[in-house]
Amino acid sequence: MGLDDRDALRVLHDAFAASADGSGVVAQFFSRWFGTNPAARDLFPADLTPQRVAFAHAMSWVLGELVAQRAQEPVSFLAQLGRDHRKYGVTQRDYDLVGRVLHASLRDELAEQWTPQVDDAAREALNLITGVMGGAADAEDGPAWWEGTVVEHLRVSRDLAVVRLQLDHPLPYYPGQYVKVEVPQCPRSWRYLSPSMPADETGAIEFHVRTVPAGLVSTAVVNETQPGDRWRLSSPHGGLHVDRDAGDVLMVAGSTGLAPLRAIIMGLTRWADNPRVHLFFGGRYPCELYDLPTLWQIAAHNPWLSVSPVSEYPGDPDWAAQYPDVTPPRGLHVRQTGILADVVTSYGGWGDRQILVCGGPEMTRATVAALIAKGAPEQRIQHDPLSE
Ligand SMILES: Cc1cc2nc3c(=O)[nH]c(=O)nc-3n(C[C@H](O)[C@H](O)[C@H](O)COP(=O)(O)OP(=O)(O)OC[C@H]3O[C@@H](n4cnc5c(N)ncnc54)[C@H](O)[C@@H]3O)c2cc1C
Repeated sequence: MGLDDRDALRVLHDAFAASADGSGVVAQFFSRWFGTNPAARDLFPADLTPQRVAFAHAMSWVLGELVAQRAQEPVSFLAQLGRDHRKYGVTQRDYDLVGRVLHASLRDELAEQWTPQVDDAAREALNLITGVMGGAADAEDGPAWWEGTVVEHLRVSRDLAVVRLQLDHPLPYYPGQYVKVEVPQCPRSWRYLSPSMPADETGAIEFHVRTVPAGLVSTAVVNETQPGDRWRLSSPHGGLHVDRDAGDVLMVAGSTGLAPLRAIIMGLTRWADNPRVHLFFGGRYPCELYDLPTLWQIAAHNPWLSVSPVSEYPGDPDWAAQYPDVTPPRGLHVRQTGILADVVTSYGGWGDRQILVCGGPEMTRATVAALIAKGAPEQRIQHDPLSE
C-alpha cells in the first residue's frame, strides 16, 4: 500500500512523464496553485515554460525512483531542493498547499485511473516530497541566499565574460559545485553558474559566462552587467570532484565548462602531490580559449597538470583583434584543431582515468558518448546535469 504499491506509483509517474512538455497535470497544477495563492505567481518569471518542464522532469524522476523502490537519492535531492527553495521565502504552509493542489490536480487529470490505491500512493508520495523539502529547509540555519556586488566584468571574447563579485558573506561550497544566480537585469530568472575558483573566506567569487543564442540571462550577463550590480546566489549543488586516491584524471572542458574544472584544479594546488591531471580545453576559435594564460600559470607551478588547447577552427575571425591575445604560451601543449570529442578520443578511451566532462549539453553528450565508445567505463565519467 502507499509507497510500497509500485503499480499505483507508476500511474502517478506516468502522469508526469506524459506532461514532460509542461502540459497536462503540470499545467493544471500551476494554474490551480496560482488561482489559490496569486502571490505565488510573483515568484516566477513571465514565461513559465522552463519551470513547468523542469517540474515535470523532477516529479517524474522522483516518482520513477519510488517505483523502483529507491528512496536514498530522491530524499537527498528533495532535501537539497528544500534548502535551496528558502531563497524564494517558501514556508511549510506553502508546501502544505502545494501538496493539496498537486493531489487535486492528479485526481482530476487521472479521472478513471484514480482508484483508492492510487489515492493512497499519491498522498504518501506527496507527503514524502513536501515533508522532506519543508523539513530540510527548517533544519537549515545558514542563510537562504547570498548577495554580492559585481566588482569586475571582463569581456574576454565576443560571447564570453568573466564576472567577479564581492559577496556580503562568504559562500561555502566545494570546488566543482554550482549555484543558482539571479541578476538584476532578469528578476526571478535564476540560472545555474559554476564558480571558477574555490570558496574564498573573504567572499570573493568569479564566474565565466558565455551567451547562448537568444539566451535571456547569459546575454544580459555578458552584454549588460556592470560593476555595482547586485547579484543573488543560492546554496551550492552538485558533486563534480576529483578523488585524490583514485588515480590519474582526464578533464574535458568546452568553453565556460572550464569554470568548475578550473576551481577543482585550483583546489588541488593546495597539495604538492596529486594524481596527474590532463585538461583538454576547447573552444570554437583559438581566441575563445580565454583562460589559457591562467592555466599556463597554474601548470607552470604544478607539474601534475598538463593542458591541451583545442579549437574547432584553425584561425581567428576578424573580431578577435578586439579581445585579449590568448596565444598559448610556451609550456602548454601545442593547440590542436578539431572537435573536442574527436581530439580527446584520438588518444584512446582514457579508461584508467577518473574522467570529468564539462560544457554545454551537446558537447557533454558527444564527449561522453565518444569516450564510452572508446572503452571508458561509464561509472568513471562525471558530468553535471545537462539542464535544470
Ligand atoms: C549545472 C549547470 C552549470 C552551469 N554553469 C554555467 C557556467 O558556469 N557558465 C555558463 O555560461 N553557463 C552555465 N550553465 C548554463 C546556464 O545555466 C544557462 O542555462 C545558460 O546561460 C542559458 O541561460 P539563458 O537564460 O541565457 O538562456 P534561456 O533564455 O534559458 O534559453 C535560451 C535558449 O538557449 C537554450 N539553452 C539553454 N541553456 C543552454 C546551454 N547551456 N547551451 C546551449 N543552449 C542552451 C534553451 O534551450 C533555449 O532554446 C550551467 C548549466 C547547468 C545545468
